[in-house]
Amino acid sequence: MAFEGLADRLQSTIKKITGKGKVSEQDVKEMTREVRLALLEADVNFKVVKQLITKIKERAIGQEVMESLTPGQQVIKVVKEELTQLMGGEQSKIAVADRSPTVIMMVGLQGAGKTTTTGKLANHLRKKHNRNPLLVACDVYRPAAIKQLETLGTQLDMPVFSMGTEANPVDIAHQAIEHAKEEHRDYVIIDTAGRLHVDENLMDELQSIKNDVKPDEIFLVVDSMTGQDAVNVAESFNEQLDITGVVLTKLDGDTRGGAALSIKSVTDKPIKFAGMGEKLDQLEAFHPERMASRILG
Ligand code: GDP
Repeated sequence: MAFEGLADRLQSTIKKITGKGKVSEQDVKEMTREVRLALLEADVNFKVVKQLITKIKERAIGQEVMESLTPGQQVIKVVKEELTQLMGGEQSKIAVADRSPTVIMMVGLQGAGKTTTTGKLANHLRKKHNRNPLLVACDVYRPAAIKQLETLGTQLDMPVFSMGTEANPVDIAHQAIEHAKEEHRDYVIIDTAGRLHVDENLMDELQSIKNDVKPDEIFLVVDSMTGQDAVNVAESFNEQLDITGVVLTKLDGDTRGGAALSIKSVTDKPIKFAGMGEKLDQLEAFHPERMASRILG
């Protein structure tokens, strides 16, 4: 499970001060040092760590006393609030277009979990929001990718729009939206091509699709197991495409969690969902506060 190392370290640090009737400046310093090390070990971006620690120190040292909490608990509350803020504060909602269909473009590197997440998201929209999505296969470079999406469509009993590998991705996306209107589908989820690395051709193609379909959301799917790389990938996709949100996959794996804690502050785009396994129902709306509680125990 993600964050195990981070959670263990933070929790043992916190245990030391929980019961304290009095927390000295020295205590706060010691604790923030531990928190800092734990975050760096969890592969959180060092700039992000620096900012977070500064805020925690400022607030924890100078704070007014709340009667219901011991000073130790107050310090912990500050750490939790700051971790929550770091991950985006409020839970971020998915867009609904004024006029149907709402168009979501899924982008990301190959292997990040884009196609799987497309299926999971469609399932989520149907189950939790009572929607009827259309899935669109725009990865024309890999016949296996189209097949994979079609298989997901069959499993979900949901239509998949594809035009094979000969058509142009922009045409496919465009026609898919027309098709969705005719069929009264209220969401269109476009699975785009991925590459092993960020490259210009890929970005050009994604930009062309974006300009044509004017998506309501562009979700970048990133593999949380790749740590700082995930943060760098998010930065470049965001620069090129101005994404609207991030889906972090494989948070069920043995990730150190750094990506989850850095992406929002580096890109200023919210994490919208977390992939918690390979199955189609293993996608969770991302709640910064719940995640912070999970980390702090
Ligand atoms: P794409 O190339 O980005 O479309 O990636 P895929 O959707 O084909 O996923 C790549 C691999 O990651 C597949 O084996 C998926 O089952 C797996 N995967 C995707 N999301 C998750 C997740 O949240 N947890 C785990 N454990 N595996 C995932």
